[in-house]
Amino acid sequence: MARKTGNGSQPQDGMTAKDFGVVFDRFQSTVSRYDCGRFCAPLNNGEPVCCSTDNAIPIVDKTEFELLKGRSDLWHLYKPTDATSRQIVKELHKSCTAIECKGARFCERDNRTMACRAFPFYPYFTREGALVGLATYWGFEDRCWLISNMQVVERDFVQEFIAAYEYIFARDAEELKSMKSQSAYHRRTFSRRNEPIALIGRDGGFFKVLPHSGRIVPLAADKLPQYGAYVSVAAYRRAVKEAGGDAKAAEQTFLQRPPVAGSAKAAAAKAKAPSIS
Ligand code: SF4
Ligand code: SF4
Repeated sequence: MARKTGNGSQPQDGMTAKDFGVVFDRFQSTVSRYDCGRFCAPLNNGEPVCCSTDNAIPIVDKTEFELLKGRSDLWHLYKPTDATSRQIVKELHKSCTAIECKGARFCERDNRTMACRAFPFYPYFTREGALVGLATYWGFEDRCWLISNMQVVERDFVQEFIAAYEYIFARDAEELKSMKSQSAYHRRTFSRRNEPIALIGRDGGFFKVLPHSGRIVPLAADKLPQYGAYVSVAAYRRAVKEAGGDAKAAEQTFLQRPPVAGSAKAAAAKAKAPSIS
């Protein structure tokens, strides 16, 4: 979670350790039935991309770290390794801290951060301020398999994701502001790219945010975007080879265009396009 400027403003001025405990209890569903780390790890020295601080440094509230430290020894403070990571840590708000876990082999499901649970998604807000669904951190689109396979995301995950963020936003005005800014930044970036933003609707179904206008229209599951190494088996094979991995072995586990999750299909049948852009 990235935030905040903290002025004690309403509704409340932050999440307590206890609040994070509530969120962790309620946000437990797995994102899909696939162990997606198997597909991205061959491109990243055998480690899932989102579980190594070389790619993504977990930023948490100090109160979230307080909770985690009380539950497990999985996490420690992150020590920057280069100029970029030093800058990231230097620019953190005083209520936040950068942390690192012991690595994917030691992962403890119950003691994952909010950032681990939500990745690669963030809550997408329209210009008018409506939380309409899940968008992705596109900076990982070339390496994260899930960003190229949003159709596999389970309905339970989406519901728990939305409920968890709504709980946080009711208590942390700066986090709300930060996610609205993230959505606006996404719109600007994709308008420059002249590409739509793919969304998973909060009530089911898939949508796209049109560049420039920000209008939201339905998107068929088989038209969800695919990127980089995940556009074809040949591209995957090439990318793994370039990354120094065993392309043949990787290819045997790689899954291209798996079907829409059953639970997502049922929800999509009922979903309507958000009525606001
Ligand atoms: S969420 Fe993306 S980056 Fe993380 S393990 Fe799954 S495919 Fe890899
Ligand atoms: S706690 Fe688990 S999911 Fe989170 S970064 Fe560590 S290995 Fe990955």
